[in-house]
Amino acid sequence: MASHILHRTTDRDLPVAVRGDGLYIVAADGRRYLDASGGPAVSCLGHSDAAVAEAVADQARRLAYAHTGFFTSEAAEELALRLTAAAPGDLDYAYLVSGGSEANEAALKLARQYFLEKGESARHRFIARRQSYHGNTIGALSVGGNMARREPYRPILMDWSHVSPCYGYRGQEEGESDAAYGDRLAAELDAEIRRLGPESVAGFIAEPVVGASLGAAPAVPGYFRKVREVLDRHGVLLILDEVMCGMGRCGSLYACEQEDVVPDILTCAKGLGASYVSIGAMLLSRRIRDAIAAGSGAFQHGHTYLGHPVAAAGALAVHRRLVDDGLVEGVAAKGALLERLLLERFGNHPHVGEIRGRGLFLGLELVRDRTTKAPFEPSVKLHQRIKRAALERDMICYPGGGTIDGVRGDHVILAPPFIAGDADLSEIVGRLGEAVDAAIDGAG
Ligand code: PLP
Repeated sequence: MASHILHRTTDRDLPVAVRGDGLYIVAADGRRYLDASGGPAVSCLGHSDAAVAEAVADQARRLAYAHTGFFTSEAAEELALRLTAAAPGDLDYAYLVSGGSEANEAALKLARQYFLEKGESARHRFIARRQSYHGNTIGALSVGGNMARREPYRPILMDWSHVSPCYGYRGQEEGESDAAYGDRLAAELDAEIRRLGPESVAGFIAEPVVGASLGAAPAVPGYFRKVREVLDRHGVLLILDEVMCGMGRCGSLYACEQEDVVPDILTCAKGLGASYVSIGAMLLSRRIRDAIAAGSGAFQHGHTYLGHPVAAAGALAVHRRLVDDGLVEGVAAKGALLERLLLERFGNHPHVGEIRGRGLFLGLELVRDRTTKAPFEPSVKLHQRIKRAALERDMICYPGGGTIDGVRGDHVILAPPFIAGDADLSEIVGRLGEAVDAAIDGAG
């Protein structure tokens, strides 16, 4: 039967996924796909978590929906309480939406409104980093710095500002210490705020560990503290996008805990619903909520599915699994094993320039020449070849490619579910090794 869905690509038929089984997705033809990246780093509990499925079904049976203009729900309240109680600093309020892009759209609008409430109406500009991705809706795409994803839409995007990412592999100069690199990037941000006029800047948004655009790239130690100092000096809000790297993926519930900074606004999604429900959240500081309460009394925003009870109940059950059942606690050790296996397999690989990441969020950067770090020609589309080669071996991983300051690179992310056992991790690295070698051989 011909498909009536506009799929992501129009050039091929997709297998029909019919069932989940732990780390595996089972297709209608019986093929079992090992999900080594939890899709796009979303399925942190695997594909057959009975407790979450039951919580979703139970909520749908009791109450599916009540408009947030009139009601709140037990599930949404309890989820917000859990998310904020576990969050650092004074991130005491949550705003529940349906995904990562929506969470970031809300964050941009909230930052703008906060300054209006405070009487600083000139603050309307945002700064992000090149090689960042904050979502595909117009505002989130405008602020993001993933040039490939932005390119077709450039004429309809807002012209916001982008500074250098913290990307040690290519950004750090020969012999430059982490501290000096962090200082240099903080100075660049400071200069950009001054160039725009500090009184016009509302917020700076960044991913603590960059996912889709850089392949699981953490910042050098101290970078985010330096950024925070610069922003504080100019009264600019820090928005951290933990949509991909948060919810335990990096080994702590919130990735920013490892940076020792507290943002003013934090967004999360993906692992929040663990792929069982479509949900995102924006956490905000008490100061921002108080400014609205003391001012207009209403955040000028909203969606039909805000605080959806079924999504909230699913996310609540996910949170219990992650925190109460100790799954996040296990991420660091599993991540260390995965990293060791990757080092054994790829540590001396002539085309693997770097193995990086945190927790169960690890990436490989592929290069034509390890010494010069020269990437493969863009026309080779190495990351696409790796995706295909992995699929031929019944494995899903998350490859990507992009351009940074004119240099193109290819990477592949592994983000297995937190329930992965040692044998699963070995299997993943084994299949990835075969896929990478086959893709490079095929590239000529
Ligand atoms: N922010 C980051 C860091 C992401 O990785 C993504 C999705 O990949 C988004 C935002 C957008 O989230 P969504 O696809 O749920 O809209």
